[in-house]
Amino acid sequence: MLNEYTSEPHNFSAFGDGGKRLVVIGGGAAGFFCAVNAAKMNPSLKITLVEKSGKLLSKVSVSGGGRCNVTHACFSMADMVKKYPRGASFLKKAFHQFFTTDTIEWFKERGVELKTEADGRMFPVSNTSQTIVDCLMQEVNKYGIEILMNKEVKALNKLSTGWQLLFSNETSLETDFICVASGGYPKSTQFEWLQKIGHTVESPVPSLFTFNMPGNPITALMGIVAENVSVKIAGTKLTEQGPLLITHWGMSGPAILKLSAWGARQLAVNNYKFTVIVNWVPAYNEQTLKDKFQQVRFDVAAQKISNRNPFLLPQRLWSYLLQQAGINEEIRWADLPAKEQNKLIKILCTHEFAVNGKTTFKEEFVTAGGIVLSEIDYNTMESKLELNLFFCGEVMDTDGVTGGFNFQNAWTTGFIAAKAIAGRQ
Ligand SMILES: Cc1cc2nc3c(=O)[nH]c(=O)nc-3n(C[C@H](O)[C@H](O)[C@H](O)COP(=O)(O)OP(=O)(O)OC[C@H]3O[C@@H](n4cnc5c(N)ncnc54)[C@H](O)[C@@H]3O)c2cc1C
Repeated sequence: MLNEYTSEPHNFSAFGDGGKRLVVIGGGAAGFFCAVNAAKMNPSLKITLVEKSGKLLSKVSVSGGGRCNVTHACFSMADMVKKYPRGASFLKKAFHQFFTTDTIEWFKERGVELKTEADGRMFPVSNTSQTIVDCLMQEVNKYGIEILMNKEVKALNKLSTGWQLLFSNETSLETDFICVASGGYPKSTQFEWLQKIGHTVESPVPSLFTFNMPGNPITALMGIVAENVSVKIAGTKLTEQGPLLITHWGMSGPAILKLSAWGARQLAVNNYKFTVIVNWVPAYNEQTLKDKFQQVRFDVAAQKISNRNPFLLPQRLWSYLLQQAGINEEIRWADLPAKEQNKLIKILCTHEFAVNGKTTFKEEFVTAGGIVLSEIDYNTMESKLELNLFFCGEVMDTDGVTGGFNFQNAWTTGFIAAKAIAGRQ
């Protein structure tokens, strides 16, 4: 049992045989990974994991639509870091210690095989996140890691050697090492207990959201997917390419989600009011598309424009774009007036949509913001301000786009913190 108290302090490091104590704050992916790896690397450590809620690994359970997108089949560090709107250069150095290949191997060694889907996302072959939860729980049990639930850390106090944790229920605990793995918080005030020990917090804003276009007629096409479009935020350098899903409230799909992640901070400043410019045919710009139109008019001159869609766009979308350009769908390609052709070309290449508001993408919501990375040593995940205080996972100002990159951040940084703590005797 833990040495807990409500009033009298006691000596830390006095747990059982005198080994040092590590308290991990947060029972999510990063906290579990830190705890179990530290236990394996240094069996003399006494490890306690504290979790404020009554549930462990809750995000792992619901992640990836209940299948847990554990990591991504990306084996180049240079390509990998392009997936992190915040924290890329920090993680580039961290990945040298624990990369996607190590994640695959780590789970394999524990009997969990991962499979790769066509888009590179990796899931357990069982197709259920329960496999990942079970694996991590087995490790915790194997190493006798103590777990305290419904324990919310409210404050950290520095002692002459080590730390004291104060919980919301007025109890406390002393320890040699702390690893903060408390995840992202949506409100700045929730970081106050970490700011009080001197750390700086980049204010949190949502990342990975979809765009609201209230009243826009395109929403009538809800459910339609354009397989490859490029999307751009007007007046910025933000641009992305990929599938786009039209929804009943606006636009979603990988191209939009990626754009939202890269633009998270900028779009929050604008209160989610901006213009998005869609190129429905990203292989072309207005000039090259004009040349293509000459060719199409020649090749299929006698065919009706509505029947002959040369860009393989979904038929309903093609009809909608023709309507937007004021083109009579009965017209033959050969008879398309120059003015209407030019309008269609403009719509195909630079279709503008007013965005007003966002909707959080429930499947893989993350927050941008957290402890600033300049205050954390990427070699160890230790605070540069306080000795024996470590961070891992989303509590830091790191976040990735969808596809398994956020869990890879948790595994990598959890492992590095574990290794550093385990070696600190
Ligand atoms: C619905 C959903 C689906 C997702 N799917 C995927 C996916 O498939 N692939 C992917 O890569 N990413 C996914 N993500 C993102 C991913 O889940 C997170 O990036 C990841 O869980 C972060 O891990 P973490 O351990 O840092 O934080 P968390 O998982 O948030 O864990 C932090 C824990 O700390 C606890 N805690 C917080 N404050 C305190 C405190 N003061 N005292 C004690 N305990 C505290 C919290 O209750 C929580 O249990 C998804 C996110 C969501 C919400």
